[in-house]
Amino acid sequence: MRASITRRFLLLIVVSLIAAGFLDLRNVDALSVALPDGRAADTLPADPNPLLSAWEGPYGGVPPFDRVKIEYFKPALEAAMAENLSEIDKIAKDPAAPTFQNTIVAMERAGSTFDRVTTIYGVWGSTMAGPEFQTVQREMAPKLAAFGDQVTQNEPLFKRIEAVYNSPEKKKLTPEEQRLTWLYYTNFVRSGAKLDAKAKARLSEINQQLAGLFTKFSQNVLAEETDQFILLKEEAELAGLPQSLRDAAAAAAVTKKQTGWLIMNTRSSVDPFLTYSDRRDLREKAWRMFINRGDNGDAHDNNAIITEILQLRAERAKLLGFPTHAHWRLENSMAKTPERAMQLMEAVWKPAVARVHEEVADMQALADKEGAKIKIEPWDYRYYMERVRKARYDLDQNEVKPYLQLDKLREAIHWVAGELFNFKFTPATNVPVAHPDIHVWEVTDKTTGKHIGLWYFDPFARAGKRSGAWMNAYRTQERVNGEITTIVSNNSNFVSGKPGEPVLISWDDATTMFHEFGHALHGLNSSVKYPSLSGTAVARDYVEFPSQLMEHWLPTPEVLNRFAVHYQTGKPIPQTLVDRIKKSATFNQGFATVEYLAAALVDMKLHTAGDQKIDPDKFERETLTQLGMPKEIVLRHRLPHFLHIFSSDSYSAGYYSYLWSDVITADAFGAFVEGGGPYDKKVAERLRKYIFSVGNTIDPAEGYRSFRGRDPKIEALMKKRGFGG
Ligand SMILES: [Zn+2]
Repeated sequence: MRASITRRFLLLIVVSLIAAGFLDLRNVDALSVALPDGRAADTLPADPNPLLSAWEGPYGGVPPFDRVKIEYFKPALEAAMAENLSEIDKIAKDPAAPTFQNTIVAMERAGSTFDRVTTIYGVWGSTMAGPEFQTVQREMAPKLAAFGDQVTQNEPLFKRIEAVYNSPEKKKLTPEEQRLTWLYYTNFVRSGAKLDAKAKARLSEINQQLAGLFTKFSQNVLAEETDQFILLKEEAELAGLPQSLRDAAAAAAVTKKQTGWLIMNTRSSVDPFLTYSDRRDLREKAWRMFINRGDNGDAHDNNAIITEILQLRAERAKLLGFPTHAHWRLENSMAKTPERAMQLMEAVWKPAVARVHEEVADMQALADKEGAKIKIEPWDYRYYMERVRKARYDLDQNEVKPYLQLDKLREAIHWVAGELFNFKFTPATNVPVAHPDIHVWEVTDKTTGKHIGLWYFDPFARAGKRSGAWMNAYRTQERVNGEITTIVSNNSNFVSGKPGEPVLISWDDATTMFHEFGHALHGLNSSVKYPSLSGTAVARDYVEFPSQLMEHWLPTPEVLNRFAVHYQTGKPIPQTLVDRIKKSATFNQGFATVEYLAAALVDMKLHTAGDQKIDPDKFERETLTQLGMPKEIVLRHRLPHFLHIFSSDSYSAGYYSYLWSDVITADAFGAFVEGGGPYDKKVAERLRKYIFSVGNTIDPAEGYRSFRGRDPKIEALMKKRGFGG
């Protein structure tokens, strides 16, 4: 058995976060769920609940996705929590003096049943969440939160951890073991282990209330994304839409038992509609529907929930001895303080806003030239942006798509992993899956044939699956009880094509595939001893670095010439088209940066505002005015549906992480550019050694310095986005 409380913290976060199913395209999430084999619970029911059993089958056991029933979840979660509490009680009451082995390692080995159950619970929450499952979530969220507190508030256990942490013996441990000890100690303290009984009780109340509110918030957003749509009944209403969008809209109508074409209230449906629809009236309608998710004053309105969440978070931060929620959240991040995160955001904000004004001027000029007689509004941005792109770079996204076949791009990411990390991917057909669309590959070393892990790929949208794309770890690498098979997955929401026809995706979606695969490679490359320090279990503002870095390999000629081939002719994408894509790389970065950054700034300002009672609508409006938000752009996530920050604590005061990581990303790719290019084996080896394989066994800043020879600089990011010169 192996698992840990440290991972349990992550796990609980992940469970609610998956339950929320936020994880937007590109703004994604490495989910550090872990778990391995282990023994079944002591109290198996007469009809064994497969969620509680050790995983069976090949590769040291694989998740029993083919045997899941919703009614298994509640008893399995309850039995797993009870089992874990008794394991922990045994560690806490050990008569022997506390040592690293009998306390920290014992904790790492405890909780395997809980890990297994919550892994599958998380997968169902994000990819198979029907109404029946949502009922289970509502009931279990506060219980899981209470369970987490029961562990961190176990006083004899904390005393033992503290004793190991303060012991002179600690210096004799390996650096990885010392860091693990520090992590346990600091996580327990951060969770209130040093508080008095009264404060602990209040803390636990707050956490349970928050868990319930997070679930409600997420389910409200999901309801508005599922139930609201725009039905187009006449051909004329489709003006401007490319065939692929018309097909998708027709298919969506069938699913909803409607006649006509249906625009769903999700990003993957609304964004392309805003980009291509010639009908300005319908664009405005779709835009309003989308930006008002959770803000309609009805049963699914999230405003009151936000106020409550913010107040509870502020109170909790005070209890824990921090001035604000943001200060508490950032303590163990790379940025360390909200002030440092703000500094970076502010450095990028002004040039980004200036660029937006230029972009809007370009769009306005085009609209005027065409005699449109309009003033650019938020629902015009994507539409005119696309027109300007065509005019300026002669680049039509629909011209690129025929070269981007989903299957070929999957081959491409596998090939890149082979070049950089010597990985080989082979289909594994003997592994059960939750849905026939999901396929599994075995990962081995190309040279030695050594088994490394499994990679699940779940590419297509379906009912009960959250929108966006994300990576998930089903079993993290570790060696505390010998070698195990690492299991990771990539998930996305492509619309499956007609049978026998290849699925064509956009350049942005291809970039996202590389991104998510970067998270998967971070998990698969992991080479550490203790599961709590494994793979993607790194600081929130560092975890997007490996994934964002991988995006840089899509536009390499090696990938494009081999894998970006036309679905009909098989010919590689023409160089002239590639040149036009490259030339337009910094196009529209004003918009992309500002819509993201404004949301990140509002997130940080909300969580440094202290315990005042906040009206989300007013706060959002006033903050944006103060910032000088261009009125042609709306937040990428308005507060009433900002799942990153209100579906769990995970990305709260943490949405800046994407920018923080991107500074590192841009700087890191420079190491390849300055070396022998993207496929330089020596640089790739350093990348594996100091970044992809070390998990959280070393301080990330230190790991980065070992890779790059210095700290990251912001210049590469500014250049990448085309700001400042
Ligand atoms: Zn990501």
